[in-house]
Amino acid sequence: MARRKKLYEGKAKILYEGPEPGTLVQYFKDDATAFNAEKRDVIDGKGVLNNRLSEFFMSGLAAIGVPTHFIKRINMREQLIRSVEIIPLEVVVRNIAAGSMSKRLGIEEGTPLPRPIIEFYYKDDALGDPIVSEEHAIAFGWATQQDLDDMVALALRVNDFMSGVMLAVGIKLVDFKIEIGRIFEGDYQRLIVADEISPDSCRLWDINTGQKLDKDVFRQDLGDLADAYTEVARRLGVMPRTNGNITKPTLIN
Ligand code: UDP
Repeated sequence: MARRKKLYEGKAKILYEGPEPGTLVQYFKDDATAFNAEKRDVIDGKGVLNNRLSEFFMSGLAAIGVPTHFIKRINMREQLIRSVEIIPLEVVVRNIAAGSMSKRLGIEEGTPLPRPIIEFYYKDDALGDPIVSEEHAIAFGWATQQDLDDMVALALRVNDFMSGVMLAVGIKLVDFKIEIGRIFEGDYQRLIVADEISPDSCRLWDINTGQKLDKDVFRQDLGDLADAYTEVARRLGVMPRTNGNITKPTLIN
């Protein structure tokens, strides 16, 4: 069998050349990293869960007309996606104060925000992904004003969708990060949601207990990360059932 060409390996995913031009295969690893990769571990089953969860969220977004890179899931750890030119800005949407915003601005974690707040971070590991303004993004050529306006509109649609889906299963969407890519269609370019949407890139709190069901479980040593992600998947009805029970994924693929 011909060896697949690996195009990129990141902290949590690997990208391989896809079967057709304009496509890629995205492989979800079990590796977890935090604090710019200073803390790292391998969490059995995390890749399987994030592959399924990202499929679920991206398919839902497509169903309400939000364009994404997702084409189809191939197997337990891989999905076929459209190849995009990633805009080097992480887009964070916040509904409730937490994490770096609480620290930077001294706003107590858990404070509801009067409206969703959108922030841009420049994707550069060596710099620790610094927060930037639209001025920086335009001045340094990372995105145009039109791109930024489109990114804000996309991010708000993702926020409304994700907030609703989570609310329906008793989870508050505190904040999340998305990445956005350009695709070219003839003379036109379009922006679509890329990368992944999973508990690795969201803050998710149980509505009743406040229990954290996201990567903060790993960042703050609050328990078993795969258990937390399995709980999210179980509530959303995403994981396959065995005898009516949801089981933590055990198959290594
Ligand atoms: N986030 C992410 N990747 C990053 C930075 C942040 O997925 O490189 C997500 C994070 O999980 C959270 C949101 O973006 O849901 C906001 O993160 P924050 O800026 O508070 O940073 P953190 O506290 O995670 O360092």
